[in-house]
Amino acid sequence: MIIGGGPAGNTAATYAARLGAQVTMVERDVIGGAAHLWDCIPSKTMIATGGAMSFSRRIHGMGLEQQEAEVDIEALTSRIEGIKARLQQGTTRLLESQGVELLHGTAQLLNDHDVQVTTAEGTRVVAADAVLIATGSRPRIPTWCTTDGERILTTRECYPPRIFPESITVIGSGVTGVEFVHMFSSFGAKVTLVVSRQQVLPQKDPEVAAVLEDDFLQRGVHLLKGARATSIEREGDAVVVRCDDGRVVHSSHAVLAIGSIPNSDGLGLDAAGVEVDSSGFVTINRHCQSNVSHIYAAGDVSGKLPLSSVAAMQGRKVAEHVMGLQKVAHRHLDYDKAASAIFTEPEIADVGLAEADAFAVGRKIRVTKVPFSATPKALINNDFRGFVKIISDPATGVVLGGSIVGRHAAELISVIALAVTANLKVTDIVESLLVHPALAEALAEAAE
Ligand SMILES: Cc1cc2nc3c(=O)[nH]c(=O)nc-3n(C[C@H](O)[C@H](O)[C@H](O)COP(=O)(O)OP(=O)(O)OC[C@H]3O[C@@H](n4cnc5c(N)ncnc54)[C@H](O)[C@@H]3O)c2cc1C
Repeated sequence: MIIGGGPAGNTAATYAARLGAQVTMVERDVIGGAAHLWDCIPSKTMIATGGAMSFSRRIHGMGLEQQEAEVDIEALTSRIEGIKARLQQGTTRLLESQGVELLHGTAQLLNDHDVQVTTAEGTRVVAADAVLIATGSRPRIPTWCTTDGERILTTRECYPPRIFPESITVIGSGVTGVEFVHMFSSFGAKVTLVVSRQQVLPQKDPEVAAVLEDDFLQRGVHLLKGARATSIEREGDAVVVRCDDGRVVHSSHAVLAIGSIPNSDGLGLDAAGVEVDSSGFVTINRHCQSNVSHIYAAGDVSGKLPLSSVAAMQGRKVAEHVMGLQKVAHRHLDYDKAASAIFTEPEIADVGLAEADAFAVGRKIRVTKVPFSATPKALINNDFRGFVKIISDPATGVVLGGSIVGRHAAELISVIALAVTANLKVTDIVESLLVHPALAEALAEAAE
């Protein structure tokens, strides 16, 4: 029994069914989950259109006349809806083809084996040998603010883009916050970013964050550093954000990007004896089992890395564990080796050990860095921004991690991610016969 049809739930359902399990999956909204409905897919689709707009502002360096592109909100909305529908249909077809029973409704555990499903037709109880909680998370709204879905928004209320804000204040400078800054500024909005520390992306390598801050400043984004928002209020058609240091920002809209909370309430976890931590995340072991061994949790609700890719891999591992495959061919999920990307301009991606973390524990590392400006393809693309950084073990040459800032960073990081997962050495990258001219040549140089 799988509760939730996002990346964690639908991947677990597909694999478990493929391995011979009889699977029922309950989803209260849409198959594909929040990832398809509000998060990854709409945000990346809007960023792709915004990116095309900002690219159109830079084409004059490529032997073309510059023309300002204009947004057609209706066309953009139907593009987002079209992509969502296509992905949803594809995932539904895949699940049905594997024989997964799909229920559209809300699930609640009655005890550790019985799940009550409330659908439009009524209520039904499904008994299961194993249960996966894959219910995801929702945006965190602080007590000092009330969102109105009109001008004071959560990230979910930015789609479909009914209007583009003239000016917007983004609260929160983590991954989601900076992606929204990038998105709205690409569409021409005047953006203010409230940054509680002295650096955007406080968890990231300062060199990486510096490239992004430069881009923001060039776009005219106002960075309000060292400030915490303490209130957000409507004043007529304006939104007023007040900060703890007395600074006040006026804009037409504001969006909260300050993290999310788990969807673990109202699920009957108490009745099933499942433990959650102080923030409501289901506590899991390395097999994604809760304290009740046949009840698993995967995805955002498990409090690990809140990424679709991680949720899907957890779902796959749960299916393998439930079906006893871990005894045969099961590699444990190592969250420290998860690649992640930030879809700004330039893109930012990293994987594995970070330089600062190695220094913090006194670990000896070799760090090599190559700027894209030295790569022929960057010159051809008329985009020289960014760099590749590879972190390796000085004694063995094993690749431990890396960061890429620049065009297509989210794609290029796959090479380093593979090296980190498979314990490859820098020489394995150097001796790969890569394409020329390609941005990937910078990877080989950085591995040298
Ligand atoms: C703005 C934004 C952009 C993002 N972009 C990216 C990105 O580019 N790449 C990336 O890897 N990650 C991204 N993420 C993170 C990613 O969206 C999540 O990590 C991912 O959705 C988690 O998947 P999940 O399966 O745990 O949950 P979800 O996708 O949230 O799915 C959970 C599902 O469970 C259902 N559900 C909940 N309770 C019940 C119930 N009681 N009964 C039945 N159904 C229920 C919900 O309706 C939901 O559909 C982004 C997040 C945000 C906020």
